[in-house]
Amino acid sequence: MLESNSLDTLKGVGPKQLEKLHKLGLFTIQDLLLHLPLRYQDKTRLTPIDSLLVGVEAQTEGTIISQAMTRGGRNSLLVTIQSPGGACLTLRFFHYHYRQAQSFTRGKTVRVYGEVRSGPNGLEMVHPHYQFINLENPKPLDSTLTPVYPTTEGLGQPSIVKLITQALDLVKSSPLPELLPSNLLQELQLPDLNQAIVTLHQPQASDDLVSIKQFCHPAQQRLILEELISQQIGLQKLRQEEQKRLAPAFPPSQKVNALLASLPFSLTGAQQRVLDEIGHDLKRQHPMQRLVQGDVGSGKTVVAAIAAIQAAEAGYQVAIMAPTEILAEQHLNAFQEWLEPLDISVAWLNGRMKAAEKRLMLAQVESGAANVVVGTHALFQDAVNFSKLGLVIIDEQHRFGVHQRLTLQQKGQKIVLEGEESDKESVGDNLLKVEANKPYNDGFLSPIEADEAPVAECTHGVHEQRKAESNNDLAQKDKLEVHPHQLIMTATPIPRTLAMTAYGDLDLSVIDELPPGRKPIETAVMSNTKRDELMEHLYAKCTQGVQAYWVCPLIEESELLHAQAAEVTATQFTDRWPDLRVGLVHGRLKGDEKALVMNAFKQHDLDLLVATTVIEVGVNVPNASLMIIENAERLGLAQLHQLRGRVGRGEKQSHCVLLYQPPLSTTGKARLNIMRETNDGFRIAEEDLKIRGPGEILGTRQTGGLQLRIADLQRDARFIPLAQEYSALMLHNDPQRVDALQHRWIGHRVEYQNA
Ligand code: ADP
Ligand code: MG
Repeated sequence: MLESNSLDTLKGVGPKQLEKLHKLGLFTIQDLLLHLPLRYQDKTRLTPIDSLLVGVEAQTEGTIISQAMTRGGRNSLLVTIQSPGGACLTLRFFHYHYRQAQSFTRGKTVRVYGEVRSGPNGLEMVHPHYQFINLENPKPLDSTLTPVYPTTEGLGQPSIVKLITQALDLVKSSPLPELLPSNLLQELQLPDLNQAIVTLHQPQASDDLVSIKQFCHPAQQRLILEELISQQIGLQKLRQEEQKRLAPAFPPSQKVNALLASLPFSLTGAQQRVLDEIGHDLKRQHPMQRLVQGDVGSGKTVVAAIAAIQAAEAGYQVAIMAPTEILAEQHLNAFQEWLEPLDISVAWLNGRMKAAEKRLMLAQVESGAANVVVGTHALFQDAVNFSKLGLVIIDEQHRFGVHQRLTLQQKGQKIVLEGEESDKESVGDNLLKVEANKPYNDGFLSPIEADEAPVAECTHGVHEQRKAESNNDLAQKDKLEVHPHQLIMTATPIPRTLAMTAYGDLDLSVIDELPPGRKPIETAVMSNTKRDELMEHLYAKCTQGVQAYWVCPLIEESELLHAQAAEVTATQFTDRWPDLRVGLVHGRLKGDEKALVMNAFKQHDLDLLVATTVIEVGVNVPNASLMIIENAERLGLAQLHQLRGRVGRGEKQSHCVLLYQPPLSTTGKARLNIMRETNDGFRIAEEDLKIRGPGEILGTRQTGGLQLRIADLQRDARFIPLAQEYSALMLHNDPQRVDALQHRWIGHRVEYQNA
C-alpha cells in the first residue's frame, strides 16, 4: 500500500534522511509520488545568444573570447562568450577555483544553462551550469525536460530524483487507487492518476513538453483538479461542521430603529441589503459565518454596530476586534456614541492598559456588565472571560491574514453551556464557560504591525467561570456547546474565484455602493524633487482650513531605504511654519498618547497629521481632505488604496499626492498609474493580481492554511467552479473515497482541519 508505506521502506533511507523527508512534508510513498516538480529546465534546445530574454532561463552556446578576474568590491570571474553572429554573453562567477578560471581558455566552445540577467556589460548569467563542447563530436541535447524539485538542506535534487525513481518502480506493481469519478476524467479527457504521475516526474520526448513547462498538460490539469476538489471538500466539511453547531438566536431588535433615527444619514441600499443578510443569519440557531466586503468608506462600521445592537438587546455580549489600537479606539468612540444612548454599555481592552484599569474592565466583561467589548487582538490573548459571548466581529480582516482567520475560527472562542436538561431550549439563561485557545500567537501579523502592540505569548487554556453560589452537582448537568456568531469585515476586494477558496467556508456579503455625495479623490503622482513645493502648497491649504495627512512609510530615518522619517518631517514643518498645528503618530507612541493626537486631529485642533502607516486602516476623520504619501513606490497597491481611503470621506473634494523616489521601476510606474486612474477598489485589486503575478495575493501557494502542492489558485482559477461541483457530488455519493482523497492531499496536515 503506497498510500501508507513509510518512506524508510525505500533503499537508502535511514533515520536521518527520513527526518529530512518529513521536513518536506513527505511521510508515505504516496506523498513522495505527489512531490511534483516545481518547474522544469528545458535543455532540449539551444537559444541563440541574440534571442535570449532577460529574466528567462535558457540554454545557449558560444565561443569564449575573454576571461578576466575582477578585484575590488566583490571578486568575480567574468567569462565572455560570443555567438557566430557576434552577440555576447557574460558568465559571472563569484565563487570559483583558480583551476576552474584557467579552464575557460579563449577559443573553447561552452554550452551554458541559466537565468539571463542584464548586467553592467549587457546580458549575463550568474553561476550558470556549463559544459565544454567538442565541436568535432558535440554532445547531443537532452531529449526531455529536467524536473526541478523542492528541496531541503541536506536533501538535494539528485537524492530526490533517486528516491522518486524507486517509488515510480513500485507504482508499476501496485498502482495508486484512482479516486476521481470516471465520468469526470472521460469528459475532460484526462489521464489516469498513475500515468499522470509518471509523465510529470519523467516526461518523455514524445510528450507535449511545451504544455508541461507551462503547467497546462492534461497530466497536470488532472492533479490540479484533484487537489482543488480535495481542498473544496475540506472547506465544505468545515462548513458542515460549523452548521451543526449551535448558536444563540437573536430576535429582531427594537433599539436599531432608535439608532437609525439618530443617525445624520440614512443607510445606503447596499448597507440595508447586507444588514438583511446578517439579520437573517442572526435569527438562526447556528453560528453566522459571514464575510462583509466593502470598499474603504462604504460604511461597514455602522453595519457592525447594528449587528452588535441586535446581539446586545438579546442579552448577549459582543466582542469587536480591530487590527490596530488607533482603529480600536476609533470604534470605541463610534460605538459609545451610537450604543450608549440605547443603554448598551461599551468597554475597551488594550495591550497597554494599566493593571488596575485592566482588572476593572476584565471584571466588567466577566460579570456581563460590559455588553460590547472593543479591542485589538489583546482581546483574544488575555485572560478574558466573557459571561455570555454571542457575537464576534473582526474588522479589517485583511490585516490579520487568512491564516489567522482560520486559526481564530477553529481555535477561537467556544462557549460551553452547562445547564440542566430541561433548560436546553433557553440557551440564554445558562451558565457559560468560554474557552479561548491562543488564536493569534503564531507571529503572522504583517511586518507593519510590528510597531503596534507587541504580539504577546499567550498561554491560556480553558477559563471557567462558575457561580460561587451554585451548589449543583455539575456532573449531573448536561453539556451543550454554544458558539458565537462571527462577522468578518474587510476592505480588500478579492476576485470571486479566489474568494471561493480563501473564504470558501464563509457566506459573502458585498457593500458595493458608497454613501451619496462622495466625490472621487483626485490623485497626482510626483517625484520627490517637488517635495519642497508640495510642503508649501500644503501649508497654504491648511491656512484655508484644510486638514491633511502626511504619511511616511518608516518610523526611523533609514538612508538605505530612502524612507523619510515621520519625526524628521514633522519637525521640518514646525521649524518652517511655527503657526501650523502639527501632530505626529507612529507605532512607538503609547496608546493614550496616540489617542490624544488622533482626537486633536478629529477635533480640528491640528491641521496636519504626520504619520506612519499605522493610520492605514479604518481611520475616519471626514474633514481631512488632503493626503500625501511619501515613498509611494515602496507600498503595494492594496496598501496605497487603504491609505488614500483616509480622505474622501466628507463633502469636500479630496486630493491625494503620491510622492516617489526616482528612478521609478516599470512596475512601480504601472502601480502608481493605476492609483491615478481609479478609485475603485475592485479594479485596483484586479490590477494588483495582474502585476503581482500568481500566488502572491494570498501568500505563496497558501490559502486558509492549506498548502497546495500543485494547484495555483490564480493560474488554475478556472477549475475552481468545477472542483466545487464535484466536491459536493463526491461528499454526497462516496464518503469513503472522500476520506482517501483528503488523506492523499492533506495527509499529515489534516489535523489543521480537525482542530
Ligand atoms: P469603512 O467601510 O471604510 O469602515 P466607515 O464605516 O468608517 O467606512 O464609514 C465612513 C464614513 O461614512 C463614516 O463617517 C460614516 O459615518 C459615514 N457613513 C456610513 N454610512 C453612511 C451613509 N449611508 N450615508 C452617509 N454617510 C455614511
Ligand atoms: Mg472601517
